[in-house]
Amino acid sequence: MLEASHHYFQKAAAALGLSEKIRDILLTPRRVVKVEVVTESDAGELLKHVGFRVQHNTARGPMKGGLRFHPAVDEDHATALANLMTWKTAVVDVPFGGAKGGISVDPAGLSTGELQTVTREFVSQIKEVIGPTIDIPAPDMNTNATIMGWIMDEYSKHYGFSPGVVTGKPLQLFGSPGREEATGRGVMYVLEEALKDQGRSMQGLRVALQGFGNVGSHAARLIAEQGAKIVAVADHLGGVSNPDGLDVSALFDHAREKRTVDGFVGGDSFAGEEVLTWDCDVLIPAALEDVITAENARDVRAGLVIEAANGPTTPEADEILLERGITVVPDILANAGGVTVSYFEWAQNIQQYQWELERVVGELEKIMRRSYAAVRDVGKEKQVDLRTAAFVLAIRRVGQAALARRHTREDIPLD
Ligand code: GLU
Repeated sequence: MLEASHHYFQKAAAALGLSEKIRDILLTPRRVVKVEVVTESDAGELLKHVGFRVQHNTARGPMKGGLRFHPAVDEDHATALANLMTWKTAVVDVPFGGAKGGISVDPAGLSTGELQTVTREFVSQIKEVIGPTIDIPAPDMNTNATIMGWIMDEYSKHYGFSPGVVTGKPLQLFGSPGREEATGRGVMYVLEEALKDQGRSMQGLRVALQGFGNVGSHAARLIAEQGAKIVAVADHLGGVSNPDGLDVSALFDHAREKRTVDGFVGGDSFAGEEVLTWDCDVLIPAALEDVITAENARDVRAGLVIEAANGPTTPEADEILLERGITVVPDILANAGGVTVSYFEWAQNIQQYQWELERVVGELEKIMRRSYAAVRDVGKEKQVDLRTAAFVLAIRRVGQAALARRHTREDIPLD
């Protein structure tokens, strides 16, 4: 995954004519933290996990990015995702740098009490390097508002009441209205903008989604509300399809109860991985990374791919999709709605002020539509695809901020 995020960076850096020295400075994380998290299980046995926080870049503000609880979390993984956060926050122009982290653990194997103890121990190990003006974690894969509440509480024990240390919190702990569905909502806005560019609309559009977690489920619901048909949805246990469009709210209820879309009676079941090559107009990968690969990219039937997941397309697959004329709206733009509303949450917290949902949604919409237009315009100006354009825009913003902090003759070319 690290290779992929570096590959996309290098492609844009080449389009910008960046020197090797600047590339190296921009790619290297500022700080990599690895900690041992030792706790006790409910049965009184010792549990040992390894946690990470990779802090990539601070040029444009405190670092920001999620915490993932997943067995695949390791230093390379967190570094790649931290890099993506730097470029993502720059694409939507919110005043943050990038970070990412998590614990190498399968939370399904822990009780709620154990999960809480592991989370609190992790926070106490990294508390010196996070904070409202340093690095602000948020939810990511397998983490949620409840866990963010524990993080706020643990940090506040040491530093006093600090809601601004973490975003994606429960509303009672000064989370922001609209944060939970923010990534899905942002996906909906960029899809609408991409369709407009192609002279098309949502009406009757056939959409297939991989993943029905926090991102995929809200994206499906909001996109269906705009008149599109969700014709296939899959997760790691299976898939369901319906050529007339799935009843997304019934699927929501099913998935909440069963924790999978598998077995939903409102559609036909299929093997989950087939969703990537489904007969549809739009494909939305909203689960794991590296799922569109050299092996399946030639079989993708959608004309438009909206990357709701982080890093779902390998560089080889990206080239194949480009060659085939398939438009890809890249992750660092398509899924930036989450961190955008995280910014609103943080801004509300440090001002001790609360916005109404309407304001959150209105501001998110403005930022997502404006960011799409900015990326598209860079793409036209430099004659490059949307992913390269998004990286060019981000590298310019981050690079110029980094250099403006110093007394140096180095520069980031604007053309
Ligand atoms: N984990 C989300 C992402 O990958 C949100 C990060 C945040 O809100 O800080 O963008």
